[in-house]
Amino acid sequence: MNGVYIHIPFCKQKCAYCDFVSFADKERLTDAYLDALENEMALCTGEKADTIFIGGGTPSILKPNQISRLTKAVFDNFDIAKDCEFTTEANPGTLDEAKMTAMLEGGINRISVGVQSFNDAELKKIGRIHDAETAYNTILSLKKTGFNNINLDLMTALPSQTMDSLKNTLKTAVSLPVTHISAYSLIIEDGTPLEKEYSKGTLALPTEDEDREMYSYTIDFLTRNGFNQYEISNFAKKGYECRHNIKYWTFEPYIGLGVAAHSFDGESRAYNTDNLEEYLSGSEKQTIPLTQKDKISEFIITGLRMNKGISAEKFRQLFGEDIENIYGFELIKFMNLGLIKKDGDRYSLTRKGIDVSNSVLCEFV
Ligand code: SF4
Repeated sequence: MNGVYIHIPFCKQKCAYCDFVSFADKERLTDAYLDALENEMALCTGEKADTIFIGGGTPSILKPNQISRLTKAVFDNFDIAKDCEFTTEANPGTLDEAKMTAMLEGGINRISVGVQSFNDAELKKIGRIHDAETAYNTILSLKKTGFNNINLDLMTALPSQTMDSLKNTLKTAVSLPVTHISAYSLIIEDGTPLEKEYSKGTLALPTEDEDREMYSYTIDFLTRNGFNQYEISNFAKKGYECRHNIKYWTFEPYIGLGVAAHSFDGESRAYNTDNLEEYLSGSEKQTIPLTQKDKISEFIITGLRMNKGISAEKFRQLFGEDIENIYGFELIKFMNLGLIKKDGDRYSLTRKGIDVSNSVLCEFV
């Protein structure tokens, strides 16, 4: 079964750290964009899907009738499994009751809210359009309207963030009726306003040690509060792991629709243009076949992000060789360093390995 990803690239304003393909001044194009998405979906008629994820950008910028139009197009074109996980991302400050109702009536059963922090000064610094109170009330309204599977996105290592403010954010997050929490460290991306400040030396960022301490505290705190870590940055109550994102980490196929979206079928990747006007005029996907080497490193790097790690047997079935023949040196080195462990036929990162996962994963490229 496929996962389906649909990209909605419109935002109210651009956040100071964001290098995603999203546009702050093009809301007038949303109807034309939905036309283009419908055309792209028509090429997938009859494809089976058991997870759908509308991401962005800010999908909740769409009006209620546009949300209904989009969800209808999904059901009209794909062969959707009965127990399909259907997620949309949403940002506080762009949701109202009519939109929430349109989402639920359209079959959306999971919502992922970009909260990032419950500290107003931190939110302002990174250019979010909402404050902490709006985010808090948005989660409560979603629950009241009928959403029972809610994710909340948080960020650590934000400018001026302290351990105390992070503790407060985490405490607030777990007090809310959410089933899933994602927590990513801020990355300073080239060309963003934050990067400019960073280059000038005027950005007060936590040090690398503080960043690691925040991450470690986040894992312990969320685990103590019933959110189990199942991936480097993702935590869920039992049974609420995000099935769509798990497809990305376990080499499962997915179809990407919309500007800059990409698809994966186990053998190749297909990319849509990241130029909005080109996408609207109906440009075709570019397909790039993956070499055996590409597939293997993709399997390892994404699989090791998950706490359960990778199966040596699945590796053999997929690639016709023993993982130890290809990565024996790296696996032994990291096991000796206590960064990777082997359990039955599975290799996974240890807690110490998770702390330095970037350096470990790099060596499998
Ligand atoms: S809301 Fe998300 S996609 Fe839009 S600018 Fe902010 S971070 Fe980027």
